[in-house]
Amino acid sequence: MSFSFVCNICSAENRGLRLKDLDREAGRCEGCGSLVRLRSLIHLLSLHLFVEALAIGQWPENHEILGYGISDWPKFSKYLGPKITYTNTQFDLDVAAAATVLDITKPPRAWFKTADFVICTEVLEHVVPPAQAAFDGLLALLKPGGRLIFSVPYRFKPTIEHFPDLHEWSIQTDEAGSRTVINTARNGDVQTFDNIRFHGGGKQVLEMRVFGLADLKASLRAAGFVNIQIAGLLYKPFGIRFAHNWSLPMAARRPLRARASR
Ligand SMILES: [Zn+2]
Repeated sequence: MSFSFVCNICSAENRGLRLKDLDREAGRCEGCGSLVRLRSLIHLLSLHLFVEALAIGQWPENHEILGYGISDWPKFSKYLGPKITYTNTQFDLDVAAAATVLDITKPPRAWFKTADFVICTEVLEHVVPPAQAAFDGLLALLKPGGRLIFSVPYRFKPTIEHFPDLHEWSIQTDEAGSRTVINTARNGDVQTFDNIRFHGGGKQVLEMRVFGLADLKASLRAAGFVNIQIAGLLYKPFGIRFAHNWSLPMAARRPLRARASR
Protein backbone atom coordinates (compact mmCIF):
# COMPACT_ATOMS: atom_id res chain seq x y z
CA MET A 1 0.00 0.00 0.00
CA SER A 2 1.39 3.38 -0.93
CA PHE A 3 1.23 6.33 1.39
CA SER A 4 2.00 9.97 0.96
CA PHE A 5 4.41 12.20 2.80
CA VAL A 6 5.67 15.76 2.54
CA CYS A 7 9.45 16.08 2.37
CA ASN A 8 10.51 18.28 5.29
CA ILE A 9 13.54 19.46 3.28
CA CYS A 10 12.02 20.53 -0.08
CA SER A 11 8.27 20.37 0.74
CA ALA A 12 7.58 18.06 -2.24
CA GLU A 13 4.61 15.75 -1.83
CA ASN A 14 5.66 12.13 -2.38
CA ARG A 15 3.08 9.49 -3.27
CA GLY A 16 5.08 6.82 -5.07
CA LEU A 17 6.72 4.98 -2.16
CA ARG A 18 5.48 2.25 0.12
CA LEU A 19 6.24 2.65 3.81
CA LYS A 20 8.16 -0.63 3.83
CA ASP A 21 10.48 0.69 1.08
CA LEU A 22 11.76 3.36 3.46
CA ASP A 23 14.95 2.89 5.43
CA ARG A 24 17.96 4.88 6.62
CA GLU A 25 19.62 5.06 3.18
CA ALA A 26 16.42 4.71 1.11
CA GLY A 27 13.11 6.47 0.56
CA ARG A 28 14.50 9.00 -1.89
CA CYS A 29 12.34 12.14 -2.18
CA GLU A 30 11.02 12.78 -5.71
CA GLY A 31 11.69 16.49 -5.25
CA CYS A 32 15.17 16.86 -3.74
CA GLY A 33 16.49 13.29 -3.64
CA SER A 34 16.84 13.27 0.15
CA LEU A 35 17.06 9.94 1.99
CA VAL A 36 15.33 9.07 5.27
CA ARG A 37 18.54 9.77 7.26
CA LEU A 38 18.72 13.35 5.94
CA ARG A 39 15.03 14.05 6.63
CA SER A 40 15.43 12.65 10.13
CA LEU A 41 18.36 15.01 10.83
CA ILE A 42 16.35 18.02 9.65
CA HIS A 43 13.40 16.81 11.74
CA LEU A 44 15.66 16.75 14.83
CA LEU A 45 16.94 20.21 13.93
CA SER A 46 13.42 21.62 13.59
CA LEU A 47 12.41 20.16 16.95
CA HIS A 48 15.49 21.77 18.50
CA LEU A 49 15.15 25.20 16.89
CA PHE A 50 11.39 25.62 16.88
CA VAL A 51 10.14 22.89 19.25
CA GLU A 52 7.85 21.83 16.41
CA ALA A 53 7.88 19.34 13.56
CA LEU A 54 8.09 21.81 10.69
CA ALA A 55 9.27 21.39 7.12
CA ILE A 56 12.04 23.88 6.29
CA GLY A 57 9.55 25.73 4.06
CA GLN A 58 7.44 26.47 7.16
CA TRP A 59 10.34 27.76 9.25
CA PRO A 60 10.30 31.45 10.13
CA GLU A 61 13.18 33.30 8.47
CA ASN A 62 15.73 34.15 11.15
CA HIS A 63 19.31 34.71 10.06
CA GLU A 64 20.44 35.16 13.66
CA ILE A 65 20.24 31.37 13.90
CA LEU A 66 23.71 30.19 12.92
CA GLY A 67 24.77 26.66 12.09
CA TYR A 68 27.55 24.70 10.44
CA GLY A 69 27.55 21.55 8.38
CA ILE A 70 30.52 19.19 8.57
CA SER A 71 30.89 17.90 5.00
CA ASP A 72 27.10 18.05 4.69
CA TRP A 73 24.85 17.05 1.83
CA PRO A 74 25.32 20.04 -0.53
CA LYS A 75 21.58 20.61 -0.95
CA PHE A 76 21.19 21.55 2.72
CA SER A 77 22.66 24.96 1.76
CA LYS A 78 19.98 25.48 -0.88
CA TYR A 79 17.09 24.78 1.48
CA LEU A 80 18.47 26.08 4.81
CA GLY A 81 20.13 29.19 3.34
CA PRO A 82 16.95 31.24 2.75
CA LYS A 83 15.79 30.64 6.33
CA ILE A 84 18.82 30.76 8.62
CA THR A 85 22.58 31.37 8.46
CA TYR A 86 24.08 28.06 7.48
CA THR A 87 27.66 27.37 6.38
CA ASN A 88 28.67 24.00 5.06
CA THR A 89 32.35 23.11 5.57
CA GLN A 90 34.75 20.61 4.03
CA PHE A 91 37.74 18.89 5.52
CA ASP A 92 39.31 18.32 2.18
CA LEU A 93 39.90 21.06 -0.40
CA ASP A 94 39.91 18.38 -3.12
CA VAL A 95 36.18 17.93 -2.58
CA ALA A 96 35.21 21.54 -3.25
CA ALA A 97 37.85 24.18 -3.79
CA ALA A 98 35.38 26.99 -3.03
CA ALA A 99 34.21 25.48 0.25
CA THR A 100 34.90 26.70 3.76
CA VAL A 101 37.61 24.42 5.14
CA LEU A 102 37.28 23.04 8.65
CA ASP A 103 39.10 20.26 10.44
CA ILE A 104 36.61 19.30 13.14
CA THR A 105 39.43 17.94 15.32
CA LYS A 106 41.04 21.42 15.31
CA PRO A 107 38.39 24.11 14.89
CA PRO A 108 39.85 27.64 14.87
CA ARG A 109 39.42 29.54 18.13
CA ALA A 110 37.49 32.29 16.31
CA TRP A 111 34.73 29.76 15.64
CA PHE A 112 34.37 28.69 19.27
CA LYS A 113 30.88 29.10 20.78
CA THR A 114 29.49 30.58 17.55
CA ALA A 115 26.96 27.93 16.49
CA ASP A 116 23.37 27.33 17.52
CA PHE A 117 23.68 23.94 15.85
CA VAL A 118 26.12 21.73 14.00
CA ILE A 119 25.09 18.96 11.60
CA CYS A 120 27.61 16.14 11.26
CA THR A 121 26.37 13.09 9.39
CA GLU A 122 28.47 10.04 8.50
CA VAL A 123 31.74 11.84 9.30
CA LEU A 124 32.92 10.73 12.75
CA GLU A 125 33.59 7.15 11.64
CA HIS A 126 36.17 8.57 9.20
CA VAL A 127 38.04 10.93 11.51
CA VAL A 128 41.67 10.02 12.19
CA PRO A 129 42.06 8.57 15.72
CA PRO A 130 41.66 9.58 18.46
CA ALA A 131 38.02 10.36 17.58
CA GLN A 132 37.59 12.15 20.90
CA ALA A 133 39.25 15.22 19.36
CA ALA A 134 36.32 15.50 16.93
CA PHE A 135 33.71 15.27 19.70
CA ASP A 136 35.62 17.96 21.61
CA GLY A 137 35.80 20.09 18.45
CA LEU A 138 32.07 19.80 17.85
CA LEU A 139 31.31 20.91 21.39
CA ALA A 140 33.74 23.83 21.04
CA LEU A 141 31.82 25.19 18.03
CA LEU A 142 28.51 25.29 19.87
CA LYS A 143 27.18 28.13 21.94
CA PRO A 144 26.03 27.08 25.41
CA GLY A 145 22.68 25.39 24.81
CA GLY A 146 23.54 24.69 21.15
CA ARG A 147 22.74 21.35 19.60
CA LEU A 148 24.75 18.75 17.75
CA ILE A 149 22.62 16.87 15.20
CA PHE A 150 24.55 13.90 13.87
CA SER A 151 24.64 10.34 12.66
CA VAL A 152 27.18 7.55 12.53
CA PRO A 153 26.76 3.84 11.91
CA TYR A 154 26.68 2.15 15.33
CA ARG A 155 26.03 -1.23 16.87
CA PHE A 156 25.30 -2.48 20.38
CA LYS A 157 28.82 -3.76 21.04
CA PRO A 158 32.09 -2.01 21.91
CA THR A 159 33.61 0.36 19.36
CA ILE A 160 36.12 -1.26 17.01
CA GLU A 161 39.04 1.03 16.14
CA HIS A 162 40.54 -0.36 12.94
CA PHE A 163 43.79 1.63 13.21
CA PRO A 164 44.34 2.60 16.86
CA ASP A 165 48.02 3.48 16.37
CA LEU A 166 47.63 5.50 13.18
CA HIS A 167 50.47 7.99 12.89
CA GLU A 168 52.30 8.30 9.56
CA TRP A 169 50.19 6.43 7.10
CA SER A 170 49.18 6.08 3.48
CA ILE A 171 46.82 4.05 1.34
CA GLN A 172 48.62 1.98 -1.30
CA THR A 173 46.88 0.48 -4.33
CA ASP A 174 48.36 -2.56 -6.05
CA GLU A 175 48.03 -3.46 -9.77
CA ALA A 176 44.88 -5.46 -9.09
CA GLY A 177 43.34 -2.34 -7.53
CA SER A 178 43.17 -3.65 -3.98
CA ARG A 179 44.09 -1.15 -1.32
CA THR A 180 46.19 -1.45 1.81
CA VAL A 181 46.85 0.92 4.69
CA ILE A 182 50.53 1.15 5.60
CA ASN A 183 51.13 2.78 8.97
CA THR A 184 54.27 3.65 10.88
CA ALA A 185 53.21 3.84 14.52
CA ARG A 186 54.75 6.30 16.98
CA ASN A 187 57.00 3.58 18.33
CA GLY A 188 58.35 2.92 14.82
CA ASP A 189 56.44 -0.31 14.18
CA VAL A 190 55.31 -0.66 10.58
CA GLN A 191 51.78 -2.05 10.30
CA THR A 192 49.99 -3.26 7.18
CA PHE A 193 46.21 -3.53 6.98
CA ASP A 194 44.31 -5.11 4.13
CA ASN A 195 40.60 -5.84 4.36
CA ILE A 196 39.94 -2.12 4.76
CA ARG A 197 36.59 -0.47 4.09
CA PHE A 198 35.70 2.71 2.27
CA HIS A 199 32.41 4.64 2.25
CA GLY A 200 31.02 7.30 0.01
CA GLY A 201 30.34 8.13 -3.55
CA GLY A 202 32.63 10.58 -5.34
CA LYS A 203 35.59 10.64 -3.04
CA GLN A 204 35.95 7.43 -1.10
CA VAL A 205 36.75 7.79 2.57
CA LEU A 206 38.38 5.19 4.75
CA GLU A 207 36.35 3.69 7.58
CA MET A 208 38.44 4.24 10.72
CA ARG A 209 36.07 2.63 13.20
CA VAL A 210 32.69 1.09 13.84
CA PHE A 211 31.10 2.79 16.82
CA GLY A 212 29.38 1.01 19.66
CA LEU A 213 26.46 3.01 21.08
CA ALA A 214 27.68 2.93 24.69
CA ASP A 215 31.19 4.09 23.68
CA LEU A 216 29.66 6.73 21.41
CA LYS A 217 27.62 8.12 24.30
CA ALA A 218 30.71 8.04 26.52
CA SER A 219 32.65 10.10 23.96
CA LEU A 220 29.83 12.65 23.81
CA ARG A 221 29.73 12.91 27.61
CA ALA A 222 33.53 13.13 27.82
CA ALA A 223 33.38 16.13 25.47
CA GLY A 224 30.77 17.72 27.75
CA PHE A 225 27.54 16.98 25.88
CA VAL A 226 24.30 16.37 27.75
CA ASN A 227 20.73 15.41 26.75
CA ILE A 228 21.78 12.71 24.30
CA GLN A 229 18.75 11.80 22.19
CA ILE A 230 18.18 9.11 19.59
CA ALA A 231 15.84 9.82 16.67
CA GLY A 232 12.50 8.05 16.48
CA LEU A 233 12.03 5.10 14.14
CA LEU A 234 8.93 6.51 12.51
CA TYR A 235 7.53 9.89 11.58
CA LYS A 236 5.22 9.20 8.66
CA PRO A 237 4.21 12.82 7.81
CA PHE A 238 7.82 13.48 6.64
CA GLY A 239 8.51 10.03 5.22
CA ILE A 240 10.82 9.03 8.05
CA ARG A 241 10.93 5.32 8.75
CA PHE A 242 13.92 3.23 9.86
CA ALA A 243 13.72 -0.53 9.42
CA HIS A 244 16.24 -1.13 12.24
CA ASN A 245 16.87 0.33 15.67
CA TRP A 246 20.62 0.82 15.18
CA SER A 247 22.61 3.65 13.53
CA LEU A 248 19.78 6.13 14.10
CA PRO A 249 20.47 9.86 13.91
CA MET A 250 21.15 11.47 17.25
CA ALA A 251 21.23 14.84 18.97
CA ALA A 252 23.09 16.15 21.99
CA ARG A 253 23.28 19.53 23.66
CA ARG A 254 26.06 21.70 24.98
CA PRO A 255 25.03 22.62 28.53
CA LEU A 256 24.08 26.20 29.28
CA ARG A 257 26.70 26.31 32.02
CA ALA A 258 30.08 24.60 32.08
CA ARG A 259 30.39 21.78 34.57
CA ALA A 260 31.94 22.93 37.84
CA SER A 261 34.58 20.21 37.70
CA ARG A 262 35.94 21.29 34.32
ZN1 LIG B 1 12.58 16.53 -0.83
